[in-house]
Amino acid sequence: MSVKQCPECGSPLPSAKTTGRPPTYCTPTCRRAAEFALRRAQVLLTRAQRAEQDAALAVAIGGSYRAADDGDRLTFWRSEVQRLRDEIRALLAGAGDEDETPAAAPTPQRA
Ligand SMILES: [Zn+2]
Repeated sequence: MSVKQCPECGSPLPSAKTTGRPPTYCTPTCRRAAEFALRRAQVLLTRAQRAEQDAALAVAIGGSYRAADDGDRLTFWRSEVQRLRDEIRALLAGAGDEDETPAAAPTPQRA
């Protein structure tokens, strides 16, 4: 990569300071937007996985007069889970090493 871009808005990143790691996002706003998108995708994935599980149970039990619907539901939620996993992976890739343990981690107490 030649010129680094903000993964959130595509703006060129400000040049790195002489110390510390290079910035991943152009502004704190973009970093927070990316964090929000990741949390949102995580919530949606949890919901999709629950729905997939419910649909899989319905298919496994069978005997429903809507068995075809149950199968369609399972197919839909499976693809939704896959899509959200890919989305989260892409978001994490864009975040670079931003998810390192923050410096605000509590310092060990000395006895
Ligand atoms: Zn940006």
